[in-house]
Amino acid sequence: MKDIDQLHPALQKKLRELVKTGGEKGLAVGIGECLRTVEEQNALYAQGRTKPGRIVTNADGNSFSSMHQWGVAFDFYRKDGKGAYEDGDGFFRKVGELGKELGLEWGGDWKSIVDKPHFQLPDWGSTPKELKKQYGTPQSFMAAWPKDGWQFDGTGWTHFRSDGAYTKNDWEQIDGAWYWFDGAGHAIEDQWYFYKEKWYYMGKDGKMATGLRITNAKVYSFHDDGTMAASEVTLKPGKDGSLA
Ligand SMILES: [Zn+2]
Repeated sequence: MKDIDQLHPALQKKLRELVKTGGEKGLAVGIGECLRTVEEQNALYAQGRTKPGRIVTNADGNSFSSMHQWGVAFDFYRKDGKGAYEDGDGFFRKVGELGKELGLEWGGDWKSIVDKPHFQLPDWGSTPKELKKQYGTPQSFMAAWPKDGWQFDGTGWTHFRSDGAYTKNDWEQIDGAWYWFDGAGHAIEDQWYFYKEKWYYMGKDGKMATGLRITNAKVYSFHDDGTMAASEVTLKPGKDGSLA
């Protein structure tokens, strides 16, 4: 499966950094296999054993012994049109070095089966031995992953980063909008907030208001930095006559 979203959140972050910095260095990195099901791993294991082809893995599916089954590995290919696995100019080693700088383990460094198009998180060792010992199955391992993104806990919305941390008693800018998170880590919604001697207003979606806002049938104007205008403001009608 090529669904990046199914990978461990920490790996998703490193993968995106790899594609970005690779692009900046003229290395066009494409993403291949990410999470692998038992069936997919068994089909791969059969190759070179009970099916034609050369042996590409030592891991059979039912033993969960591929890191791909644990969501902590992905494969990449070359995306610049010169051939997905063309390596005459050392493309895979260059990307391998880049990934290692980002804290990934590169399959090109392995001895038993050298796997140049492969990266994985190094946190649990090179093989799933430790993961199997600690969690038993990929399913229970995945249930223990840090949350990533917006989560509602029944009271309010918290925004988790990929390491599981979140903002409390501070501002955070997310996808271009500013939010204020209270002491519990909840984005405050539909309320005024007084911060460093200035008033701000957070809308029903938690986003800091800018421009004009009607609240309790009163009109307020907010500067681009979110502070409420406390002195005279100039309003200009737009093409449709509305004031901005
Ligand atoms: Zn792989």
